[in-house]
Amino acid sequence: MTINKLENTIPQLKELRQMEDIFWINPNNESVEEANAKVEYSMADILDASDRLERFAPFIKRAFSDTVETNGMIESFITEIPEFKSYLETYYQTAIHGKMYLKRDDSLPIAGTIKARGAIYEVLKHAETIALEAGLLSGYDDDYTKFISTEFREFFSGRQIVVGTTGNLGISVGTMARALGFEVVIHMSVEAKDWKKEFLRSRGVKVVEHNTNFTEAVNQGRMESMANPVSYFVDDEHSVDLFMGYTVGGLRLKKQLEEANISVDADHPLFVYLPCGIGGSPGGITFGLKQVFGDHVHCFFAEPAHMPSMLLGLMTQEYDNINVTDIDIDGKTVMDGLAVPQTSGFVAELMEHYFDGGLTVSEKDSMHLLAKMNDLENIQLEPAALAGTPGPSRLFQTVEGQTFLDKLNVSDKMDNITHIAWATGGSMVPEEDMQAFIQEGLKTY
Ligand SMILES: *Cc1c(COP(=O)(O)O)cnc(C)c1O
Repeated sequence: MTINKLENTIPQLKELRQMEDIFWINPNNESVEEANAKVEYSMADILDASDRLERFAPFIKRAFSDTVETNGMIESFITEIPEFKSYLETYYQTAIHGKMYLKRDDSLPIAGTIKARGAIYEVLKHAETIALEAGLLSGYDDDYTKFISTEFREFFSGRQIVVGTTGNLGISVGTMARALGFEVVIHMSVEAKDWKKEFLRSRGVKVVEHNTNFTEAVNQGRMESMANPVSYFVDDEHSVDLFMGYTVGGLRLKKQLEEANISVDADHPLFVYLPCGIGGSPGGITFGLKQVFGDHVHCFFAEPAHMPSMLLGLMTQEYDNINVTDIDIDGKTVMDGLAVPQTSGFVAELMEHYFDGGLTVSEKDSMHLLAKMNDLENIQLEPAALAGTPGPSRLFQTVEGQTFLDKLNVSDKMDNITHIAWATGGSMVPEEDMQAFIQEGLKTY
């Protein structure tokens, strides 16, 4: 495959290669009914994951005081952001119809990023599986607060959990796995921030630092884990369990919107913009949302213009066989949670039928919007968490967005649109680091 040849058939590939800000509509998107007929997962899998989290809720509530209020549920709220929305209109010089909200996964309990959804779920599922096999747990109706007991902790302490990460996945996996008593080894890529390494070490996690990118840190972790029979590898690239943990976020949004009196139906479309790294979290949440809201929800994933691995994989239909470096992209981004040069083949191929499209965001805009979010809404997000926020502007500003809206036939319902930008992390960032981000952002004013 030569890139120059592909550029002739895929118009926006050239812009992607030049690291421009783009808005891309997925030509392979299908109706939810059609897409569902092609994939092997369904609502039943989401409900299975949701039930598992519910079984563990009594344990979670006992083990993590920040979940007492939610009864052991790891869930976030939504916040309307009118000032920020109006600033987007000025900054990008485009009217945004409808209301705009942030989904506050920056404030998720236990780990403070969207990773808490998938990673914690996978660790819990693994713990449940081996506890059942060992006969420690008698069945799904047993008392799950037993997971806090010395007996269980001793059992898990002879077992290992390993993960490769740019940082945040490690925080979620490490925190939950250590709470259960597992030995934990985390392979960190070059982007990983020092405070994340220190945080994990202080919890008894073994941190292995790599001077290489995410893909290589993951490969190293996977290899080491496979050589050890009592080791379990949380595989960000291929894990179905991780994906299923994320889907529950989509399922739960339904009730949350109902409680906020926000309708989602043919007359009230929902647009969701999700920051995308390897694809698991935006993929899982989109899958959940599509099962719940059908064709009334439209999901766009947002990537750094310097790291557009999912967009590249889907545009070229090369999925995980293509790396951003193959099109001469440098892969340098401050959005460390999204610093993934090669997408997940599993997620890309599964989600190709569901994703409505995607956008890329410049380094400057992510920092600029970070500072503005702080100024205007007093919400402190990490750089990756801003990636989805320009989404509504792109929808109304670009030819691609306009064409999409025309096709949906919503010209008379524009003001009924609900936009949700998924804010994926922030509350765990140390004050000092957050201030440095804000200062960086202020320089772009
Ligand atoms: C990991 C991460 C994402 C993206 O999730 P993926 O599953 O890697 O696509 C978004 N935001 C933050 C803050 C993250 O840590």
